[in-house]
Amino acid sequence: MNFIEIDLKKLEHNYHTIRRLLNPETKLIGVVKANAYGSGVNSIAEKLVALGIDALAVAYTEEGIQLRNQGIKGRILVFYPQIQNFKLLVSADLEPALYSKKSWRAFEKNILDQKKTNYPVHIKYNTGLNRIGFNPADSKWVLNEIKKGAFSIKSVYSHLGASEEDRPNEFSEKQMVLFDEIMSDHKKNSKSETDFHLLNTSGVFNYPELHLDWVRCGIGLYGFANQPQWNQKLKPISKLISTITQIHSIKSGETVGYNCGWTAHENTRIAVLPIGHADGIARHYGQGNGWVSIQGEKALIVGNICMDMIMVEIKNLPCDEGDEVEIFGAVYTAEVFAEEGNTISYELLSGLGKRIERRIIK
Ligand SMILES: *Cc1c(COP(=O)(O)O)cnc(C)c1O
Repeated sequence: MNFIEIDLKKLEHNYHTIRRLLNPETKLIGVVKANAYGSGVNSIAEKLVALGIDALAVAYTEEGIQLRNQGIKGRILVFYPQIQNFKLLVSADLEPALYSKKSWRAFEKNILDQKKTNYPVHIKYNTGLNRIGFNPADSKWVLNEIKKGAFSIKSVYSHLGASEEDRPNEFSEKQMVLFDEIMSDHKKNSKSETDFHLLNTSGVFNYPELHLDWVRCGIGLYGFANQPQWNQKLKPISKLISTITQIHSIKSGETVGYNCGWTAHENTRIAVLPIGHADGIARHYGQGNGWVSIQGEKALIVGNICMDMIMVEIKNLPCDEGDEVEIFGAVYTAEVFAEEGNTISYELLSGLGKRIERRIIK
């Protein structure tokens, strides 16, 4: 009915492309949160480990536990661990980012309770995104805590808010200056061999001089880097394929879909595809926003998107019920399809629903 074809050869290409951009000493964290951006985390994680990724990262503890249950043994960072799950996190041998005094204290208590020493943790600073992280002004407090030796501090990092924007970018530069100060504070005052990192995929392309000890790549592994000239070097790993359920011939003046959302201005043909809101096709599509590809030809999405279906205008295209239709992939990438839906590749890919089968090509 619907499937996402995931090509692991393309993942491999992207992995090596990113690796080649890095200094040999810089380590690569493969970000596999949100079901590997909708790609099906099990096979993606397995493949990345086989390729030699230095660590994996997820957003939440449960995602890390899923990887452990699947048998993934290497290092797994948890970017946004919730305090109530710290115990589970430790029992699964996951490495948390600590991002506030409160999270620090809670984790410290957890480690004491479980009588663990030298537990690996990462420290996240907020340098301007104003999302998760210690305020840079807390660095004295953090350094003082580090001296007490409750944990093994594996890395100190921050996250850019606009890494894909053309340089010079004033906002990114402000973040970099702040992070530079944080790094020198930590280097001066901490004995441990702590690593530093700042960049996601676009940052890797945009700031080659700032790769530091680690980089954290998600979307790049899946084939996008948020700028056409960087995208060119990568291969989108996924194609979304659907199948025509039914074809209708309709007359000029007839309407299609709920609330008579679209009116035919000539006699035409409509194909119904079994994919809708519940599968991640947002309401912004339809009404002429977005098209799918049938035998390499464009078929516009018409009418309002339904929960379980969309309708496309096929006019006289030579196609039949049961034929496959490409929603995005080779003819038109997920990024372009996302733009038609007034969104970005991240949202489109990570929002693709559970009903869609993932077909892995090894
Ligand atoms: C999701 C995430 C990344 C990956 O970003 P991409 O743009 O997908 O490469 C990196 N770092 C952090 C902290 C993240 O949350």
